[in-house]
Amino acid sequence: MEYDVIISGAGPAGSTVGYELARRGHSVLILEKETLPRDKLCAGGIPRRILKLIDLQDGQMVEDRIHKVEFTFRQKERFVLESSRPLLYTVRRRNFDHMLVQRALAAGCQVRDGEPVNGLKQEKTEVSVHTPRGQFQARILVGADGVSGAVARLGHFRIRRYFISTLQSEVDMTPETINRYRGRVWIGFGLVRNGYAWIFPKKDHLTVGMGATLGRGRAKVFRNAFQLLLQTLFPRYRGTPVASFPISLGGVKQNLVQGRVLLVGEAASLVNPLTAEGIYYAMRSAQFAAEAADGFLNNRTPHLGSYQRLVDENMGSFFRKSRIFSGLFYGLPSVSFRMFIKDNKRLIRYFGKD
Ligand SMILES: Cc1cc2nc3c(=O)[nH]c(=O)nc-3n(C[C@H](O)[C@H](O)[C@H](O)COP(=O)(O)OP(=O)(O)OC[C@H]3O[C@@H](n4cnc5c(N)ncnc54)[C@H](O)[C@@H]3O)c2cc1C
Repeated sequence: MEYDVIISGAGPAGSTVGYELARRGHSVLILEKETLPRDKLCAGGIPRRILKLIDLQDGQMVEDRIHKVEFTFRQKERFVLESSRPLLYTVRRRNFDHMLVQRALAAGCQVRDGEPVNGLKQEKTEVSVHTPRGQFQARILVGADGVSGAVARLGHFRIRRYFISTLQSEVDMTPETINRYRGRVWIGFGLVRNGYAWIFPKKDHLTVGMGATLGRGRAKVFRNAFQLLLQTLFPRYRGTPVASFPISLGGVKQNLVQGRVLLVGEAASLVNPLTAEGIYYAMRSAQFAAEAADGFLNNRTPHLGSYQRLVDENMGSFFRKSRIFSGLFYGLPSVSFRMFIKDNKRLIRYFGKD
């Protein structure tokens, strides 16, 4: 047996499983499709509760500390949530994810990048994993390969995917414009059906994006709405070309374990169906997976089923409620804006969670 655990994908989920298992003394290999450090399309908003999972005090990692979240409805109604403590942080995914990879390496993980998992075979006592460059064996395989879901597909998991589409550009503005958004995230409702737009400030640019559940034939309308937003907010903007990426939302019960193979993070659709926040849940599910894998590898438990239980107990009901609520929220955005956004007790509870 070559490794105790192989992990497909070096995003926040994969690096966290790797770190947690390597520091417990297990031999771990992470296989990553891209060359590292890699980028990931993302607004880079990190909630305060992530501080429980990782020390973010490093000033170089945090791009901005967000003390205000401004919500607007069709640019007419406005509500600002403010706090003396940061409500969230912004990071660049390239840096944040690479810091997590370095942490896994320092704990003893091996990492092979430019090496996509493209085949797997599960035997009674091991899993064989194939890449274009070789074949590797382990007692456990973790699918942490995000929305591509390579391990889920190759392992014949029946994951039901509910996608939203996103568009995003890194907008390069003058220091004065960036300073206007310093410490402040903007969230705009009513600009696109079944979705919202955002501005997340970074040290030297603004991340501007839009996400929505698209019905058939609505891709063009969605693109036009995003272009209109960019032109309205920043008439003379320069930015990266508009990029598009799907998000696989959670909120339905999924089977995340099959024998010696388990799925974590967005590969398991563990993304908040209301807000599309995924980084925290990727890292938290990774910790649950490491706990279950450690028990199995040390013969404390006969199978990996405790992972499913931990996810269901800690995220299942919250995600299912959020999914039902998001249907109501995005279906009736103007009513929702008045009832829920302006009801700042609910918002403070959401952002204020440590
Ligand atoms: C536009 C946009 C904005 C977002 N904004 C936010 C936000 O502000 N805050 C937030 O919390 N979430 C946000 N999200 C969601 C968040 O980015 C994801 O949920 C999060 O990255 C999931 O982490 P992960 O580790 O599960 O997967 P990923 O971060 O997607 O990592 C998966 C890794 O697997 C690799 N991989 C894929 N296929 C293979 C293969 N076959 N073999 C080996 N490796 C493979 C990929 O290259 C990648 O490195 C946003 C998403 C989008 C699209």
